[in-house]
Amino acid sequence: MWFIPLPDGDTSVGAVTWPYYMKTRQTDIETFFRDIIAQAPELAARLASAEMVTPVEATGNFSYFCERAYGPNYILLGDALSFIDPVFSSGVLLAMQSAFAAADAVDTCLRHPKEAQATLVGYQRAMREGLRKLSWFIYRINHPSMRDLFMGPRNIFRVKEALLSVLAGDIFGDTPIWRSVTMFKAIYYWNQIRHPRRSIAAWQRRRVSIRV
Ligand SMILES: Cc1cc2nc3c(=O)[nH]c(=O)nc-3n(C[C@H](O)[C@H](O)[C@H](O)COP(=O)(O)OP(=O)(O)OC[C@H]3O[C@@H](n4cnc5c(N)ncnc54)[C@H](O)[C@@H]3O)c2cc1C
Repeated sequence: MWFIPLPDGDTSVGAVTWPYYMKTRQTDIETFFRDIIAQAPELAARLASAEMVTPVEATGNFSYFCERAYGPNYILLGDALSFIDPVFSSGVLLAMQSAFAAADAVDTCLRHPKEAQATLVGYQRAMREGLRKLSWFIYRINHPSMRDLFMGPRNIFRVKEALLSVLAGDIFGDTPIWRSVTMFKAIYYWNQIRHPRRSIAAWQRRRVSIRV
């Protein structure tokens, strides 16, 4: 559930659910949403005297990455380029990181026009690659092996700092975290092998839950 105060005094309230749960809906969206809120008593108490100021909306998936990050006289960055599932609240940092990278790319295009094409291709590749690295964690966020690692953190091979760097959005730069990130993934997979039944159950549950 989210509960986000907005600058104009309103509050954005919402829920992220598995697709299968959305498909159980038998009422209108507003009633369905009110039922979801009722399942979170603390949120329901906060909203007891709240007034709904816009209609309830539902959407299947709001993650996207534009097919092209650049074209004649334009370059895309921030939300204009992509938006990734907001599990880790990385939107602002990704927007700022892409702004730095795009500014460098534009600078190169203006100073060295012959390098423009290669620079823009490199920019697009770096953005896509960075988001792919972050997505690895998002796709596995509710896997039991990942939950184990998050809830019982140990800092072998400095995986903790590396993970914090990734989740903070430090995915485009030269920070030397990738060896530790690889170790984190190795521990994650090792955890899965150690608990095969749980891993298979999680895989099956996910497959059913995300079926469209
Ligand atoms: C409810 C909500 C909660 C969020 N929570 C978080 C969070 O906790 N942490 C986090 O990191 N991210 C969060 N995000 C995501 C984050 O806000 C965005 O990823 C980030 O603001 C993107 O920055 P941006 O500069 O690309 O776009 P924006 O911040 O949208 O800026 C684009 C600007 O361009 C202006 N504009 C649009 N069209 C024109 C035009 N034709 N001419 C001139 N100006 C124009 C707009 O008015 C706007 O000011 C949240 C988003 C929402 C909606």
